[in-house]
Amino acid sequence: MGSAALYHLARRGVAAVGIEQFKIGHALGSSHGFSRIFRDIYYDPLYVELAEAAIPLWQELDSLSRETLMRFTGLLYFARPGNEVIQKSIGVMEALKRPIEQLTAQEAAARFPPLRLPEDTAACFTSQAGLLNVGLCVLAHLEQAERHGATIHQETSVQRIDLSHDAPVIHTSAGEIRCERLIISPGPFAPQVLQELALPLCVTRQQEFYFLPKQRASYRPGELPVFGDVDTEFYGFPDFGPGLKTADDGLGPETSATEVDRTLDLGKRDQLHQWVESILPDIGFSYLQGATCMYTVTPDKDFLIGPHPQNPNVIVAAGFSGHGFKFSPLMGKILADLAADGATQYPIEQFRLGRFDTASEA
Ligand SMILES: Cc1cc2nc3c(=O)[nH]c(=O)nc-3n(C[C@H](O)[C@H](O)[C@H](O)COP(=O)(O)OP(=O)(O)OC[C@H]3O[C@@H](n4cnc5c(N)ncnc54)[C@H](O)[C@@H]3O)c2cc1C
Repeated sequence: MGSAALYHLARRGVAAVGIEQFKIGHALGSSHGFSRIFRDIYYDPLYVELAEAAIPLWQELDSLSRETLMRFTGLLYFARPGNEVIQKSIGVMEALKRPIEQLTAQEAAARFPPLRLPEDTAACFTSQAGLLNVGLCVLAHLEQAERHGATIHQETSVQRIDLSHDAPVIHTSAGEIRCERLIISPGPFAPQVLQELALPLCVTRQQEFYFLPKQRASYRPGELPVFGDVDTEFYGFPDFGPGLKTADDGLGPETSATEVDRTLDLGKRDQLHQWVESILPDIGFSYLQGATCMYTVTPDKDFLIGPHPQNPNVIVAAGFSGHGFKFSPLMGKILADLAADGATQYPIEQFRLGRFDTASEA
């Protein structure tokens, strides 16, 4: 979110400065690795609208980058008949007149030959979906931000923020920075960086695993979409180079960004392995690697975006609840709007910071 905001500020001509505690490209937050799902299908129409608004921004960034950032592979969701989440999501897409196809297990296998879903599965497919090469996306935003004149301080830790003046003062490991406006988007470090707000955030440990299919050509984008089992919350990506990735979207153990245990849970790896083999029976793959990441989850899984209650020149962005990356260029644009203009045209009322604070909301 920070890299996207930096880019959108810089392209407006703002003298923008980005501060990152680790080396650029690090794997200690929530935006590293090779893939994140982009999808327009959601159970809440707000996110369908925001996902659509993010597409041209991704396409623009993709065209500016030397690398392929986004691949529209389509997304196949499936579940046992009657699954509420899938039914509601299909209902929302139909009500909004957005393209969504409902498929039987046989129809899914005819379209994607490696897939063998259980016979009574209800599946739906959206073509406005695919994968984002997450690590490269962050680098692309930063590269474009610098091209527009932004300054980036990496390996510089924010230790304290003085909010008492109109112009906030940031105390960092490399000295003080005074700024007119400040955007704080600390990902899973939000409970520490924004301690004074006592935001209701739960940081969870999530792990993802990569496998190498025997016949790689059969599991590439085009042959296989991004796929997700809404009952188990397991999902997977076609192999576009780094191997076939699979992960569990269910919340992992609660942790903190400073203490997270990065030991790989081989029990989870084996569960995911079995799940993939159950729906891709010919895959015969070998294990490549795993990685640890964190979700920063709000009680309603909606994001937290808005002015800091103690200083309106400070904008907070946190709690992306394990589904924020697909929106990051749009969030960057919104954060730049809020910081530079004090308002945005996008509907972000649902993300207001005070919504869990019944006293201040009354
Ligand atoms: C395994 C996994 C799978 C996911 N899958 C998807 C998906 O398929 N689709 C999707 O849309 N989303 C997905 N997400 C969620 C998405 O990746 C996150 O919502 C998003 O990356 C969060 O970005 P962020 O900028 O808030 O946090 P981060 O990327 O962690 O950025 C915060 C940055 O702030 C820096 N920072 C923090 N404190 C300080 C400090 N004191 N001083 C200086 N710098 C500081 C950190 O070092 C970090 O670089 C997934 C997340 C995980 C973990």
